[in-house]
Amino acid sequence: MKNIGSVHITNDILANEEFHIKKRFGQNFLVDKNILDKIIKEAHISEQTDVIEIGPGFGALTEGLVSQARRVLAYEIDRDLIPILEKNFSDVHNLILVNQDILACDIDADIERYLPGSTETIVVANLPYYITTPILMRFLEDSKQVSSLFLMMQAEVADRVTSAPNTKAYGALSVVINYRAITKVLFSIPRSVFIPRPNVDSAVVMFTIRKEIEKRPTDEKKFLMFVHQCFSQRRKTLLNNLRQAFPNQTREALENHLIKCNLAVNIRAESLTTAAFIMLWQNLVSNNIKD
Ligand code: SAM
Repeated sequence: MKNIGSVHITNDILANEEFHIKKRFGQNFLVDKNILDKIIKEAHISEQTDVIEIGPGFGALTEGLVSQARRVLAYEIDRDLIPILEKNFSDVHNLILVNQDILACDIDADIERYLPGSTETIVVANLPYYITTPILMRFLEDSKQVSSLFLMMQAEVADRVTSAPNTKAYGALSVVINYRAITKVLFSIPRSVFIPRPNVDSAVVMFTIRKEIEKRPTDEKKFLMFVHQCFSQRRKTLLNNLRQAFPNQTREALENHLIKCNLAVNIRAESLTTAAFIMLWQNLVSNNIKD
């Protein structure tokens, strides 16, 4: 173990490799061995587990991952980090390093290509915060191979993706994520354990992908857009947001849909569970007013 994620080694790399930290890539390097160990422990990696890592940086988290996993497929966008990673892991044989933007790759095709015969693929990453939501949606919407994700993200986003109805943080993102996965905040992380120090605190969230979605709504993509429309103006009632989304419908017709679904006509979107959104959507679909 080189202990890459220590203040000492990280500062050494910064001093000796002429590497310049790039804010535009959300580079905040984690330098706390206890936290790194805790993330690895929570991910329950076995010898059969393949791990996808997004943004290995200098390899602080990667070091623990390669020691536990069958294989680690790591995507790093910054080409200046590739020679540093190659040097840090020159004696490691289960690391597949790809110099690519995670948002530009086809996840399941890459799993087949780089991790053939994989029986369990999970994602473990300290995410670049500027693209947390697109990365999440990519994995939740596009991958059929990944079974769970352990992601470090901004604490405020962690709240949004895990919050329940009738709480301040609950919104379209909470519903859309809850539709795909069971979420849990595992622990929080102070901003003081990163170089450079970010302006926000962080948290690690576990996402367990739902294998079977019980009541899959008709036209899933449109359903997910519908959820966003329901929250488009937070201060307005759900009925008012529906009126904007379906301008051809009368107020009365839309009210009737709410009543049929046992929803009060003055209810706000933030009070609806995922199941209630699905029920409302199905009701609109069965009456042909989904467009
Ligand atoms: N894993 C390291 C750690 O914990 O110290 C670095 C984490 S840092 C918050 C985010 C990393 O993601 C950086 O190495 C950055 O270059 C990389 N990155 C940023 N955008 C990316 C993208 N679109 N695709 C792949 N990697 C990206």
